[in-house]
Amino acid sequence: MRIPLVAGNWKMNKTIGEALTFSSGLSAFLKEETRKPGWPEILIFPPFTALPALSGALAETEVKVGAQNLSWEKRGAFTGEISGSMLKDAGCEYVIAGHSERRHIFGETDEVVGRKVRAALDADLHPILCVGETFEQREAGETLAVCRTMTEMGLAPVTPDEVGSVVVAYEPVWAIGTGRDAKPDDAEEVIDSIRDTMARMFKDAAKDVRILYGGSVKSINIRGFMLKETIDGALIGGSSLDPEEFLRIVVEVQKTRPAPKSFGQGE
Ligand code: PEP
Repeated sequence: MRIPLVAGNWKMNKTIGEALTFSSGLSAFLKEETRKPGWPEILIFPPFTALPALSGALAETEVKVGAQNLSWEKRGAFTGEISGSMLKDAGCEYVIAGHSERRHIFGETDEVVGRKVRAALDADLHPILCVGETFEQREAGETLAVCRTMTEMGLAPVTPDEVGSVVVAYEPVWAIGTGRDAKPDDAEEVIDSIRDTMARMFKDAAKDVRILYGGSVKSINIRGFMLKETIDGALIGGSSLDPEEFLRIVVEVQKTRPAPKSFGQGE
């Protein structure tokens, strides 16, 4: 059963105080509403500095927090890095691996991303592996091949028993932060191909892996994506910074694709 998932990636935005203001905007609504059936799983990825405060502030709700990045190492002389177990200690359940900004601005390779996915699983965190093509790769007809390679390399260190706890996010680079969203039909084609790749790697276990769409998602376009059975939710950047807009997206997901059993209702 793939419970729909709505995840907000704040990137390098919001102080601790601003994160707490955001959470008080959400808390009252979420405390009541998300305990009712049919709500998607909701995640927020604040900057590292706000993680403990936000996770504490959201403790009374079903909203989970995650980190935007992690080290592939477990501990030691790695100045500026943060390990998976430190993130767990700060209240994280999820961590993003291979966001396109990490790949393109900070030079993370597919091999590095695979090591981060492994490190996340070793720390008992759910990795969200991001894959997606650039505009030039799309124009050159390379989209499916690029996403296949990113999926194969990002998930190379994962076993079939573990893959169900991984989430994949298809995020075309040209759609991130640009206001140019992909067409739901195009996103569906790529996501189907990513699932085929995982089926070759993990057989039946691939069916349990949630695949999200990300790239200029807003409350006015989320419905089109969620009408596609194959798209399990969204990874949202800019629109997740405003609590009201984020909540509108969550509500659209709940209306368009009610979860079979709300994540807040227990197993
Ligand atoms: C992202 O950063 O993952 C993202 C999808 O950003 P935006 O929603 O702003 O395009």
